[in-house]
Amino acid sequence: MHAFQPRFALNQPALHVAFGAGARHDLPAHLDRIGALRAVVIATPGQDKAARALAAALGDHAAGCLPRARMHTPVDTTEAALAELAPLRADALVAIGGGSAIGLSKALALRTGLPQIALPTTHAGSEATAVLGETQAGRKTTRTDPRVQPGTILYDPELTLNLPLSVTIPSALNAIAHAAEGLYARDRTPLATLMATEGLRAFAAALPRLRTAPDDLDARAEALYGGWLCGMVLGQVGMALHHKLCHALGGSFGLPHAETHAILLPHTIGYTAQAVPQLLAPIPEIFGPEDTPGRALHSFARSLDAPTALRDIGLQRADLARAVEVALDAPYWTPRPPDRAGLTTLLHAAWEGAPPQA
Ligand code: NAD
Repeated sequence: MHAFQPRFALNQPALHVAFGAGARHDLPAHLDRIGALRAVVIATPGQDKAARALAAALGDHAAGCLPRARMHTPVDTTEAALAELAPLRADALVAIGGGSAIGLSKALALRTGLPQIALPTTHAGSEATAVLGETQAGRKTTRTDPRVQPGTILYDPELTLNLPLSVTIPSALNAIAHAAEGLYARDRTPLATLMATEGLRAFAAALPRLRTAPDDLDARAEALYGGWLCGMVLGQVGMALHHKLCHALGGSFGLPHAETHAILLPHTIGYTAQAVPQLLAPIPEIFGPEDTPGRALHSFARSLDAPTALRDIGLQRADLARAVEVALDAPYWTPRPPDRAGLTTLLHAAWEGAPPQA
């Protein structure tokens, strides 16, 4: 049970969302609906085949493919894609893939004003936000701009059937992080809280089934549904300690995005829960059996064979002191502001893969 919230404000951008197995086949109808005649399909190099299949299904309405998206949306990649895009005379951008493909689509939309349709195949949630993070000269900058929000999202669980569990599970924990931080966001709303708890419930139901049967379409659909809800939370309310820490560590040490979220989540939530235990009460209720939010998330992650130690994803023990300084460098609002000692304990536990203190 969560507490009644007596005051809130909600800004909901206009979005068209279609969900269901086979939803990708309706792409031509969605292009018609937005008046687009020539769409370019964007993907990562690894999803080139899926992009080409989508373009082939569009026939004359395909302007081409740009399978060059990379993690963290490097500006030089965007500029190269812009040069390729110009002669294609495209009037819409279609992104198929995870946050990397959708990030390139957003970066191109920002520079061209073209409308976007996103077909997400991971649970990162970028499709549901007006946020774009870009990297240049080793620095990541993030902006919020309504021009980067895809206007149409097609969630087709069949597109996630071939997503390896090694991507699926960390990506789902990335989504769970959006919902967990949404529960205590300063600008939270009753609607965001409902979406967060239902998103968490959907993942708690779907992920154990996917671990044993990755091609279970119903479980894939329920996970994609959870990802949509958690992505909507990310798009609607502000994030705090967990996302800021992941951003700082990812940017400074080149750590992989979803895995960094997956590993830090039990620790950041355990740390924060001491300030807002009631707001985080849904987490042990949903994930159990431990009765604290951090420990419940830690044992859930372990049960899924998710990565649990920063040392396994490339962070050196010698980096920990600098990681603490980087994380303390840019202060931001969070329910329990981190101090040097607290953050050092938190990062050491996350580095070793030990359970969180709470
Ligand atoms: P990703 O998009 O890089 O995808 C991870 C890997 O999975 C890639 O190698 C990709 O090719 C592969 N993949 C994707 N779909 C597949 C499929 N169906 N089958 C097989 N392989 C598939 O990773 P991600 O975690 O989805 O996104 C991370 C990026 O998104 C980061 O750059 C992050 O900063 C950004 N992001 C942005 C926001 C936002 O709101 N702006 C939100 C979350 C993440």
